[in-house]
Formats: sequence, structure tokens, C-alpha cells
Amino acid sequence: MAEHVVVIGAGVYGAAVSAALLRRGARVTVVDAGAPGGGTSGATFSWLNSCGKQPRAYHDLNVAGMAAHRKLAAETPHSDWYHEGGNLEWTDDEADLAQLREKVTRVLGYGYEARWLTRSELLRLEPDLDPAGLPADDIAYFPREGWLEPTRMIAYLLAGADVVRGDAVTGLDVTGERVRAVALASGQRLAADAVVNCAGPRAADIAALAGLTFPMRNTSGTLVYTSPVAVAVSRVVHAPRVHLRPDGAGRLLLHGHDEAAAEKVFADACALYPGIGAATVESVRVGERPIPGDGLPVLGRAEALPNFHFAVSHSGATLSVHAGDLVAAEVMGADVTDALAPFRFERF
Ligand SMILES: Cc1cc2nc3c(=O)[nH]c(=O)nc-3n(C[C@H](O)[C@H](O)[C@H](O)COP(=O)(O)OP(=O)(O)OC[C@H]3O[C@@H](n4cnc5c(N)ncnc54)[C@H](O)[C@@H]3O)c2cc1C
Repeated sequence: MAEHVVVIGAGVYGAAVSAALLRRGARVTVVDAGAPGGGTSGATFSWLNSCGKQPRAYHDLNVAGMAAHRKLAAETPHSDWYHEGGNLEWTDDEADLAQLREKVTRVLGYGYEARWLTRSELLRLEPDLDPAGLPADDIAYFPREGWLEPTRMIAYLLAGADVVRGDAVTGLDVTGERVRAVALASGQRLAADAVVNCAGPRAADIAALAGLTFPMRNTSGTLVYTSPVAVAVSRVVHAPRVHLRPDGAGRLLLHGHDEAAAEKVFADACALYPGIGAATVESVRVGERPIPGDGLPVLGRAEALPNFHFAVSHSGATLSVHAGDLVAAEVMGADVTDALAPFRFERF
């Protein structure tokens, strides 16, 4: 069992792994090159879902991720970083509608909650939408989905860990198939019984320090944050040209196609909800999605280096609390072989 664990990265994964390790009795040092939540977890749409995720094992992992958020929020006073308002999705393209129908049928077959709404039912949920641009029916509603304020959850989960900020990991001392210590840019050296790689989009660099080749195919996405505006956007909305959700204190978070300029994303949101025209764009952030080579998470120990562990994925907002708990359990000697089997590093 590991006594002192060094967690590299203080995003949603680093925070979730750290909290789960502390709960199991480890001493934890979390090291981040910048500030906690300053990486992808601070520039994400953070929609909590398992909507169209394949294969089945990945769908199930995301469903477990959603359940873990629900449980954490129910157990934690003032945990209003978690918002379960559902998700709406529709399209104005015939081919996309066929795909949406297929997705709804598939997730219903998995026992996931989904139903179809008409335009008037949609307008009861989202009354500030412009009815002119809406289809008469075929509007998919996924009532158990939601969204997360990741930085607030990170702050809560990091309580109790030693957090080293603004100091990058620059080396790993590896001898005899074990990581012995973590070297930092400041010259500090942290002895470790186990190390967890939660470096998000930079996870391949950390793996390389351990002598491991980790293929990643990261992509980036632009997020547009509005000023506070009195428009009723109460849940996650996936309309044909723009995705949006509330972002706290009356702000909205808008997300378009990856190559779309912020002005276009804002204009598309205004066409959908005319009241958004009273807002301004307060900030634009570009987030880098940490995507392992085959798109699926990489979780758990490296076979060649059994005290070096991975907790890296896209959809980390959804997955981190549950997947981080599985990774921490393995660090502390529990047998989670079945749960982690589809997501091992060795498949590369
Ligand atoms: C545009 C966009 C939209 C997204 N939408 C969703 C969504 O709707 N739903 C969803 O579930 N997920 C979504 N994601 C993905 C999700 O946000 C990420 O999977 C998740 O935030 C990754 O968290 P992380 O902790 O792995 O990485 P990060 O938050 O990036 O944390 C990694 C940390 O490691 C630190 N670090 C890096 N290198 C070093 C080093 N050498 N030494 C020390 N520290 C280091 C960084 O400073 C950083 O703070 C989206 C991502 C993007 C970009």
C-alpha cells in the first residue's frame, strides 16, 4: 500500500484522485505547473453525460461518472458546483436527424433516460428560445444530464492534500521498475511510493519522463463566456449551430464548432435566444482536450512500472470523480482489475 503519493496535475482528475487517496489513508502531494484548475478543467464545456459514447464499456463508465457526481453532491453541503438540469438536442438536417434517432434508440436500449419533445414542450422548458427557428418535434431530451463548475469542485476536492503550485515536474527518478522520486523545476525532489499522472493534455510528456510512449491526439475548442444576462437558459442546449449552458451568476457559456470564431458563436446564440443580444462577450478561452490515441481513457497502473499510474481522458468533467476513485483504489492496493481492463495503457 502506498503511503506517500505524488499526483501530477491539479485539474479535475488530479483533484478527484487526490481526494480518493486521502479518503483511503494516503498522504498526498499534488504538484501543478500552474494553478489548480488552470488547465483544461478551467476551459471546458463540462457537460455531464453519456450521450452517444461508445463502446458499451465507455458508455457505462460515463454513466457511473454521472452517478458519482450525483452522490458527491448529495453528500456534500454547499456542493452547488453540480447542476442536473438535463440536456436538449435537435437538428435541422435530415442526415443528422437520422443519427440523433439512432443515438436515442441506442441509449434507451442501454437503459439511459431519453425522450422526445415537441416544440411546445421544449418552450415550456426554455421559454426564451425563438420559436421561429425550432422544429415542430423530434427534440431529444436527456433529463439526467447536467453540467459542472469544475474549478469549484477542484477547490473542494483538494482540501487536505499538500498542493505545490507553479512548479513543473521536470523529471522522474526511475530505478528497478519503480518511480522513486519526482523532480521539480524549482530543484525540489519529492520522494514517492507511487505517482499518478493527471497532467491532462501534457500526460504524454510525463509518461515520457517515465520512459513510456503514450500516443495522444489532443484537439482544441473555443469557449465564449457572456456577461450576466436575464435570459432563461436553464440547462445544456445542443442546437444545430451552437451549444450553450448557464455558467453561474447569469453568465452563459457558448460553444460552437471548433473552427468557429467567437463572434459567429455569439451571433448564433443570439439567433436562438434573442435576449442574449443584451449581453456582451466577457471572455474567450481556448481549451485543449486531452485525448488518448484511440479516444478512450487511460486509467490505472503501467504494467512495466507498477507504481506509476494514469488518470487521463477526454470527458474528464464527467468521468473524473468515478474514474479517479478507481485509480486511487488501485494505487492503494485494491483489486479493480475488471473495471479498469478496457482502459489500460498497455493496449497501445
Ligand atoms: C472545449 C472543450 C470542451 C469540453 N467539453 C467537455 C464536456 O462537455 N464534458 C466533459 O466531460 N468533458 C469535456 N471536456 C474535457 C474535459 O474538460 C477534460 O477531460 C478535463 O478537464 C481534463 O482534466 P485533467 O485534470 O485531466 O486536465 P487539466 O485540467 O488540464 O489538468 C492537468 C494539470 O496538469 C498540469 N501539468 C501539466 N504538465 C505538468 C507538469 N509537467 N508538471 C506539473 N503539472 C503539470 C497543468 O498545469 C494542469 O493544471 C472538454 C474539453 C474542452 C477543451
